[in-house]
Amino acid sequence: MKIFSLFCKKKKPYAPFSQQKRYFCGMNASFSTRLEQWYEVSGRDLPWRNTADPYLILLSEFILQQTRVNQGLAYYLRIVQRFPTAESLASAREEEVLRLWQGLGYYSRARHLHAAAQRIAEAGTFPADYRFVRALPGVGDYTAAAIMSFAFGQPYAVLDGNVMRILARHFGITSPIDTTSGKNHLRALADELLDRHHPALYNQAIMDFGAIQCTPSAPLCHNCPLCDTCHAFAEHSVEKLPVKSKRTAVRDRYLTYIYTRTRDGLTLLHRRGSGDIWQGLFEFPLIESVNKLTSKQVDEFIHSSLVKVNVKVKLELVASDIHHQLTHQRLHADLYLLELNLSLSDETEEGLPFLSLGEGREGSWVKESEIDNYALPRLLEKLLEKLHSTAKQNK
Ligand code: SF4
Repeated sequence: MKIFSLFCKKKKPYAPFSQQKRYFCGMNASFSTRLEQWYEVSGRDLPWRNTADPYLILLSEFILQQTRVNQGLAYYLRIVQRFPTAESLASAREEEVLRLWQGLGYYSRARHLHAAAQRIAEAGTFPADYRFVRALPGVGDYTAAAIMSFAFGQPYAVLDGNVMRILARHFGITSPIDTTSGKNHLRALADELLDRHHPALYNQAIMDFGAIQCTPSAPLCHNCPLCDTCHAFAEHSVEKLPVKSKRTAVRDRYLTYIYTRTRDGLTLLHRRGSGDIWQGLFEFPLIESVNKLTSKQVDEFIHSSLVKVNVKVKLELVASDIHHQLTHQRLHADLYLLELNLSLSDETEEGLPFLSLGEGREGSWVKESEIDNYALPRLLEKLLEKLHSTAKQNK
């Protein structure tokens, strides 16, 4: 590794210099010491940093697995207020947990959190045992290391995408980080660099360093406490590191939702099953297709699916091509409003007419005014907002 001057020269204007603090850590200090010194000055003050309660740390780590701090903070506070202990969360209904999680996405985290709380409640206390923590639903190596170090002060080094990026850049590691050998290399290095006397401090420091300083794009290299020893900075290869061997393919999905409305303000909701996105959340009747459907195709579907075709009053497109990005999926959604000339009191022996959702996909009629009681995916919330804004315009 090359050693550079104490004051790293400004090579590229990654960020406005005036907005940054200056660090002059000596290059003789170790990697971990310099990170910890940086953290003392620039680390974020977050509520889960001021506790050693393993349940609260577990909760924060679940929220932050796929959510930014700014967005996750309000959810953390809300969930802690409602479920201050693992026992209180363990005894909640899953629907309430999903409802509190609504808008955060990646709902499997909420289900895992709920199941983890039940295991902890069964154990009677949160054991300071890595094997127990690692075996909790939804807990991987990273989350287990965070809990063990933050809550119990045990020497486990965190290693996630942020940490891998810092290590790959600083030490000039070109092994692809999405390969087993690349990960093993970085895992060994992370374990070696861990400050075993202060594992919580070190882990928090490197996590914040990746979020604030050594960011994926536009890292603050020219004001970095590690720039004098950073391989990537010296070699002008910051943008090239870390290396990934492959790009994950993104799949397009076309979703056409039908918002039904009866004369007395009922709409049809369906709870999603397992094996796909949004397990356990609610949605409107859905037609999924390989391409965007025309209005004529949707109309034909309605006619073939309604038990009583003559109750259809109006079919109107209210939202078109609303995009929603998931990790490996790009969703394109349309929303149609289907008004029906019937009310609950019209129910006959055959029951209310309904849209056929397919085998095992029964829907339920619910009051439109009570939709907020159901956990909907963020995409469905966006579609509802469109529906409401269209209704306002038509008034
Ligand atoms: S100099 Fe740049 S690339 Fe190197 S550790 Fe600092 S911020 Fe990251």
